[in-house]
Formats: sequence, C-alpha cells, structure tokens
Amino acid sequence: MKELLAATVVLTLLSPALAADDAVQVSRAGTRTVTNAPAQHFTGAVKVEMLHTPSGAQRASAGSVGFAPGARTAWHSHPLGQTLIVTAGVGRVQRWGGPIEEIRSGDVVHIPPGVKHWHGAARGSAMTHIAITEALDGKSTDWQELVADAQVGDAMPAGAKPTGPHAEAQPTRAQALLGDVAPKLAQLTDEVLFGDVWARPGLSPRDRSLATVSALIALNRPDQLRSHLARALDNGLSKDEISEALTHLAFYSGWPNAIGAAGVAREVFATRP
Ligand code: MN
Repeated sequence: MKELLAATVVLTLLSPALAADDAVQVSRAGTRTVTNAPAQHFTGAVKVEMLHTPSGAQRASAGSVGFAPGARTAWHSHPLGQTLIVTAGVGRVQRWGGPIEEIRSGDVVHIPPGVKHWHGAARGSAMTHIAITEALDGKSTDWQELVADAQVGDAMPAGAKPTGPHAEAQPTRAQALLGDVAPKLAQLTDEVLFGDVWARPGLSPRDRSLATVSALIALNRPDQLRSHLARALDNGLSKDEISEALTHLAFYSGWPNAIGAAGVAREVFATRP
C-alpha cells in the first residue's frame, strides 16, 4: 500500500504541467451570443446561437438555430454534408426535387455532401435544431436562391403577406380565427406573439407550451386550451407530461378547472396516435 502511494506521488510529480491549450473548455449556458440570421440567406425570423466555432485544424462547427413559424433557410448545399438534431418544435426539410418531409423534436437529419436542400419551421410551429457542419477549405455552406412561398406549401412565414396563386388558400390560424373582425389583432398574434415572443431562445417552445397550457388550465379557457394542447404535443410535450400537469394544477388552480381541462385533453389526445 505504501509502495503504491509512493509510486502515485512520483508519477504526479513527474507528469508535465498541463498546457493552457489542453484545457477543457466549458461554454456556460446562457452566456453565448444569439444573432439574427442574415435575410440574404433566410426567410422569416431565424436566431442563431453558435455552440462551437472551429479553430486551428478543427473543421466541425455546431450551432443552435431557432426558426419562427414558417421561417426557413434559402436553398443551399454543404461540401461535406450536415447533421441536424431537432431539439424543439416541428419543421420541414426538403432536397431539391424531393418531397417536403416533416421533422419533429428528437429527429436527426443527415444531409449528404453537395445535396441542394432547405430546412425550416412548419407554418404552425416554431422549430429549433442543432446543426453540425464540417468545412472544406474553410467553407461549410454554398448558398443559393431563397425558397419561394409557392415551393414550401404550408411553411409560409407567419404574418407574411400572402402572394401568388395560392395566397387566398393560406391564411394563418390567427387570420382564419379573427382576421375578419380584428385584422390588427390577427397580425399582432402572428408577428409579435408567435413570430417574436414564441421564437425567442430564452425558453424552448416546449417550455413555453407548458407555461401557456398551465395558464389556460388555471384560467379555465377550454377553447384556447384545445389549440394550445395540440401545439404543446407538436412542441415535444408528451401526453403523460400533460396529464401530470393537469394533476399538479388541480392543487394550485382548483379541482373543477383541472377536471374541465381533462375533458379537453381527452378530445385532443384522441386526434393524435
Ligand atoms: Mn443545411
């Protein structure tokens, strides 16, 4: 035992001092800069939080990209491909000439090298993904033209002025609900509430849904609760978690509110597999 201890001391004394550039780097949550993605390459409100910027011989970058409902990249390709990890919400991805595919929280997308594609949020939901991209000769993305509204089906930006042949067929949810009686309120709902507040990176869409659903249960607002429960499922809350919130809120907001909300939840859950 004594010998082992002595050997350990000797080894410790002999080991070279750690060089500063060998230090493990921890970038603390909440300390990284969030920037707006450039309008030249993105449609709608898109926030970028770089998680890792490569230096020296490194080639892989990582960034968290938050898309407001309907926001999206331009068409582009990556010389060495790209991996997208969807961390919140519901989105869309499409390769040139292929179908538009739905992607949800927890899905992982790999884009092969050189394939022209776009990615972004669904029209009715914000979406956040982590993008991991390797650079070739210092370049990770070849940008091309913006994705036209007509190319994205339902992924049109919230609050955008509809244009093109399908314009009238694509009102936002707020426009459909109250555009006729309160058009300004519909516009504020799309542009400020869902286009800005819900897209802010300070809370994930999932956490915003939990807060919103909790408030609507407590306030006994079954109509708004119905649409927000559907949005909550889209944003990654599970049925079990919503059931747990109902039980929790019975104690804080009153038994009758929770019982009423359970009936609404049953209806919404029945529409989802
Ligand atoms: Mn890409």
